[in-house]
Amino acid sequence: MQVFKFGGASVKDAESVKNVATILKRHENIQKVIVISAMGKTTNALEDVVNLYIKNDEKHLQYLHEIREYHQMVCDDLFGTNNPIQHKIFAIFDRIEHFCSSNNSKSYSFIYDQIIGVGELASTTIVSAYLNLNGIQNIWLDAREMIRTDYAYTDAKILWKETENLVQDKIDFSSTHTFITQGFIGGTPEGFTTTLGREGSDFSAAVFSFCLNADKMVIWKDVEGVMNADPKQFEEAVLIPKISFEEAIEMTYYGAKVIHPKTIRPLQNKSIPLEVRSFIASDKGGTLIDAFEERIEYPPIIVRKANQVLMHFSAKDFSFIAENHMQEIFGAFATSRLRMNMMQNGAINFVAAVDNREEKINETVALLEANFSIKLTSDLDLLTIRHYNEAILNSELSNKTRWLTQQSQETIQVLYRDTY
Ligand code: ASP
Ligand code: MG
Repeated sequence: MQVFKFGGASVKDAESVKNVATILKRHENIQKVIVISAMGKTTNALEDVVNLYIKNDEKHLQYLHEIREYHQMVCDDLFGTNNPIQHKIFAIFDRIEHFCSSNNSKSYSFIYDQIIGVGELASTTIVSAYLNLNGIQNIWLDAREMIRTDYAYTDAKILWKETENLVQDKIDFSSTHTFITQGFIGGTPEGFTTTLGREGSDFSAAVFSFCLNADKMVIWKDVEGVMNADPKQFEEAVLIPKISFEEAIEMTYYGAKVIHPKTIRPLQNKSIPLEVRSFIASDKGGTLIDAFEERIEYPPIIVRKANQVLMHFSAKDFSFIAENHMQEIFGAFATSRLRMNMMQNGAINFVAAVDNREEKINETVALLEANFSIKLTSDLDLLTIRHYNEAILNSELSNKTRWLTQQSQETIQVLYRDTY
């Protein structure tokens, strides 16, 4: 069996949904689970709803209404006046409105997760119905009843054993060839919705692949496959046809956006190959991520992270930065869940580059300012190049002022600022 994942761009309107059906017709005889994201930019729009609702702004209802209309419009285009799922779509959105009017919780993360998953519930309901009407018989499943998680709303952790049992229980190919379910969302035992982090549908697909011992997972994207750089930023970006699991983990760790970073480990653990293919040019080869025996020659792989803040710490008692200081600093970062993208220590200074997440930075500073003098430098960018060479490094950093460099045999990271 195989697991397919279709992202938001692949189901953004009626035309796109029809294209998904065309692709699936070509894979009719394969047993598969299809994991689908919210349509287009729905998740972003739902984040706006959450933010308005939290501020007690009545406009959240209007925003939610616009999202409902968008789905209604896709339904109109797909089904005409004979929409077989009208009542279901209404029920999905009504439930969210009801949640908003009856909720007593003040927890942002809890509220976020109860609202945000509506995008996936609506998209899968629409796609499943369209496929059933067009000769691709399938069963719709609620991912919240299979992906069992802890209570870390917005960043929930998978409870693997429970999830494996539930997935194997619910997915039985003797009844159909094709199951459709949501990415991104999971559930607690009490039935509250949790989410796995933004862009988490790739990871959901990997969880299903793992639990079902899939032969293969396929991510269908609007790009040809995995490129060595973001083609929007780098004109000469090339497709990488083969990538080892290890390399894919490294790439995504440093911020390559093409696959969610948590996706690869569960696949690697069971040696399940992952294909990244284009839903536009679906006949093209794409990228295969697998356990390759042979050594692969990679082009330089370039990842840029904009809007970095460099945090400088020195001990207030004028002592050298020693292990006890490191322990305190790392402890504070762990507590505020602020990730260090790059770090370096010297005699009296420890520095770490982080994403510009104001709340988390403030929380970290608050935890450490009693014992450390702290200085922040902002407006920096972080360039990471795997398999670098001098030529690529110089061309990527021409007209830039280098602030901090760190390199190993395979990877170089440079924190820099544009020189005006
Ligand atoms: N719809 C969610 C998001 O946009 C999850 C996903 O697309 O992977 O983050
Ligand atoms: Mg998405």
